Amino acid sequence: MAMQKQYARELMRFIDKSPSVYHVIKNAGTKLEEAGFTHLNLSDAFNLKPAGKYFVTANGSALIAWQMSRGKKARGFKLVGSHSDSPCLRIKPHPEVTVQDHYLKLNTEVYGGAILSTWFDRPLSAAGRVVVRTDDPLAPKDMLVSFKGAPLIIPNLAIHMNREVNDGYKIERQKDLLPLLGIINKKFEKDGYLVKLLAKQLGVSADTILDFDLYLHDTQPGCFCGYSDEFFSTGKIDNLGMAYASLDGLIAQDTPLDYVKAACVFDNEEVGSETMQGAGSPFFADTLKRITIAQCDAGEQWFELFQQQLSRSFLISADQAHAYHPNYPEKNDITNFPLVNGGPVIKLAASMSYASDGVSAGIFRDLCKRAGVPCQNFVNRSDIKGGTTIGPITTTNLMIKTVDVGNPILSMHSIRELGGVADQEYITQVFNQYYKE
Ligand code: ZN
Repeated sequence: MAMQKQYARELMRFIDKSPSVYHVIKNAGTKLEEAGFTHLNLSDAFNLKPAGKYFVTANGSALIAWQMSRGKKARGFKLVGSHSDSPCLRIKPHPEVTVQDHYLKLNTEVYGGAILSTWFDRPLSAAGRVVVRTDDPLAPKDMLVSFKGAPLIIPNLAIHMNREVNDGYKIERQKDLLPLLGIINKKFEKDGYLVKLLAKQLGVSADTILDFDLYLHDTQPGCFCGYSDEFFSTGKIDNLGMAYASLDGLIAQDTPLDYVKAACVFDNEEVGSETMQGAGSPFFADTLKRITIAQCDAGEQWFELFQQQLSRSFLISADQAHAYHPNYPEKNDITNFPLVNGGPVIKLAASMSYASDGVSAGIFRDLCKRAGVPCQNFVNRSDIKGGTTIGPITTTNLMIKTVDVGNPILSMHSIRELGGVADQEYITQVFNQYYKE
């Protein structure tokens, strides 16, 4: 167990220091650079060398990292796809709301399919990026920001004033989810209060701040749970659990193969992926095309080579999966129900809300076997619709054989999710195996 705990511990550390998607990508980039990967800008020419290690980012919230094949021309791509974003609350523009000239609250909206009740009575903070004016109007500067301590909290209403709170109370997003920022003092000026706080935090003048993307997050660090520390409890396991493990595997296995091997972390999966930095964007396909073009000789038809490479490629779309919940056995399929710490899960759906089929599932099952890791199945109960992920979105843009997999977790989309310590080690081993041979 001691060995196993290291993977979940490292993941929790990464999550604790990555309070927004922008911090996730910045910290992932730092980890890659320390491992010898070169950060290319999308505006740079791609001069790629055999066995070279590179990464690009989109919008500061998505990333593709890869290692070139050992020879000049690759057979294809070995890909893992995951996502950087998690459900949360976003701070709206002009967010200050005062009540009785005494309380100061912030206006928010919900990002993704969050379990809203989990956001109450928790010390919260805000993090994200601030956009600051420069001399070039089309190139403002992004500055990451993260407030220390717990400046925000959403207090519950006392049960004496809300007798139905335990009987299916409907949370009103525009009323119930406005976090308290503090008590107003005499010198308080409501207009631009948050922008002034941001300016102070960043050491810039408030009138240079053009805008911001700020999200709320839990301030309590991740921790082990369970009698033998077999679980870990933290926010954003969906999907930093997979993003982190895939980058870890890519970094650890740096012997070049006949394939280009890549870990791709997209943003905005929780709101449908249809953004510039999401899995539905040309970012993915265009980056693969540029990698192929860099392998071509002068005058060679890159598109022909690209199609040949795609036909020999594989994508593991790695997200989280629904573990069997001991309090709700009736929510599961009757013969396929993944258990926490039972190993990674292959997700299948007749509706093709998951991209897996017999062939891609078989390839992944074999990979687990080679890694010495157990493997489980998930299908929805036939009368429950279930979720989806990036697998089907990427396969509608690119003809790549794809399997949807994930680790079995509980409390998916809660502010704190519950993962299995052994599972985090298992999936890291599977990615290591994938990138190794
Ligand atoms: Zn997810």
